[in-house]
Amino acid sequence: MHISAYYPTDMVNGPGIRCTLFVSGCVHHCKGCYNARTWRADHGVVFTEAHLQQVIDDLNAVAPPRSGLSLSGGDPLLPANCEAVAELIRQVRKQCPGKSIWCWTGYELETLTQPQQTIVDEIDVLIDGRFEQALCDPNLPWRGSRNQRIIPRTALGRREIAAELLAEDVSV
Ligand code: SF4
Repeated sequence: MHISAYYPTDMVNGPGIRCTLFVSGCVHHCKGCYNARTWRADHGVVFTEAHLQQVIDDLNAVAPPRSGLSLSGGDPLLPANCEAVAELIRQVRKQCPGKSIWCWTGYELETLTQPQQTIVDEIDVLIDGRFEQALCDPNLPWRGSRNQRIIPRTALGRREIAAELLAEDVSV
């Protein structure tokens, strides 16, 4: 798997202060995509053990404390990315207790293959669906168009969504 960017502290992609990893590769090619340079699966650099360790270390750092990991792209659920993303999630679950994992994908929950579903079963929140320019709304939290859904997968995910939306006084 290649990655296009990594932000060790990020306050845009999900609630709280987070680590955000932008993986490379996306086949959806949505019109108006905010990150078209990440469509190529070989964009950026290879995701190595050192990157994985950096993510673990950053998630466990105390200054500033991170709420969790956000996986964006590109598409973390691109079939070619699934194995590496699943391993990353396994390691975060093992080594970073209490941290949430949010994942953005252009696929829809109901259409996922088994490897994609396996990943989604291990995360706290999924934001799914292609970006649709006709449904674009810049005021939406954490997503670009109204067809995209914020789907909690765990109690922690539900709590994070609720806390943030109450604080922001906006609705899903
Ligand atoms: S799914 Fe996301 S990264 Fe892929 S083309 Fe659509 S907006 Fe861009």
